Amino acid sequence: MSRHCVVQKYGGSSVASAELISRVAKRIAATRRERDRVVVVVSAMGDSTDELLALAQKVNPAAPSREMDQLLATGETTTAPLMAMALERLGVRAISLTGLQAGIRTSSTHRSARIVDIVPQRIIDELEAGRVVVVAGFQGATEDLDITTLGRGGSDTTAVALAVELEAERCEIYTDVAGVYTADPRVEPRARPIPEIAYAEMLEFAAVGAKVMHPRAVEIGETYEMPIVVRSTFGDGPGTLICKHPAMEDRQKIRGIAHDSGVAKVILTRVPDRPGIAATVFGAIGAAGINVDIIVQNVSHDGLTDLSFTIAEEDLARARPVLDEVARKVGATEIVADTAIATVSVVGTAFLGTPGMFARIFRALSARQINVEQITTSQIHVTVVIARDRVAEAVQALHAEFELEQD
Ligand code: ADP
Ligand code: ASP
Ligand code: MG
Repeated sequence: MSRHCVVQKYGGSSVASAELISRVAKRIAATRRERDRVVVVVSAMGDSTDELLALAQKVNPAAPSREMDQLLATGETTTAPLMAMALERLGVRAISLTGLQAGIRTSSTHRSARIVDIVPQRIIDELEAGRVVVVAGFQGATEDLDITTLGRGGSDTTAVALAVELEAERCEIYTDVAGVYTADPRVEPRARPIPEIAYAEMLEFAAVGAKVMHPRAVEIGETYEMPIVVRSTFGDGPGTLICKHPAMEDRQKIRGIAHDSGVAKVILTRVPDRPGIAATVFGAIGAAGINVDIIVQNVSHDGLTDLSFTIAEEDLARARPVLDEVARKVGATEIVADTAIATVSVVGTAFLGTPGMFARIFRALSARQINVEQITTSQIHVTVVIARDRVAEAVQALHAEFELEQD
């Protein structure tokens, strides 16, 4: 039996019902027969985080974020004891811990807190006593013991951070697909599973919308070189290994296509074109804890210009009062918010010094009459803003253009 610890994380759809929790418990029991130390991180059951969000929205659309976190954390707090009970029923000794009990200390930025420290003594004691430790994902606590959450998809981050702290052999992310694919397999059925991918590429892929992994989890994995495996909960495939040096033959120049339909475009129209305006606008939005993505400032006419940028759609309600205030301050004529948009990104190192790549992207999209509204690039990705109802077509067009299909 291996003394080495393994951390396994099971996502929401893997624990969506009592039956599924019992099935996952069997898988954990099998792991426990082979290993001394097993730590399990669980997400909220099914769509329960979305349901809690909808409930809060009805009670107070501008709910204080501290209360939101207190509420959202209950999703994971529910799954963990159920999983421990299911394990006990199989004769596997287990104990559930909340993020607070597991010693997960975070910053105080509610809704997107960062793990600052883990005090793992309780977990270590329970492992020493022979128990499987089931930790509620996505949550932690501040110094003042206020409950925080780590951002949507944050259970991945709990798992990788615990794996690092416990010096686990690896961190296994169990989900409803067989690994990381060249595109979301629900949108592009011809997408191909990627056997191995480098942290840096996975980070970029996750950051532009491949939501199979939380970007922060990949970042922690990269910093501490923790091997991460993404696999199916109910299959036996090898899945995807996220590591530092993927095997040579798997290093393709274009990694994949990601999309994000959860974005909104904000346009401040007819803003005076003078120094300091952008600093005022983005300073205020940043101070409100809202992340801005693609910024475009149009050529000015008569000293006036349109300033547009994208933010997460779920931040729009929170951004409104800040934007109203900013618009007044800088003398913008109007604020327009457009949620009928999405981003599609091509990710891969091929962009380094290959100018023809851009032309291929635009040709593939224009051949299908898909209009590109905005563009942004980095060393290893190109992102275009398009109409939301054309997303699937755009993903498929680019996937075909870069020959990423299954052979
Ligand atoms: P979990 O609840 O297990 O955390 P998520 O819904 O967060 O699962 O992530 C898994 C989903 O990510 C898949 O069902 C798939 O639709 C989506 N996805 C998006 N891009 C990719 C990709 N490149 N590879 C695999 N899955 C992807
Ligand atoms: N339950 C949280 C969410 O839906 C965290 C997670 O699933 O990772 O975002
Ligand atoms: Mg997830």
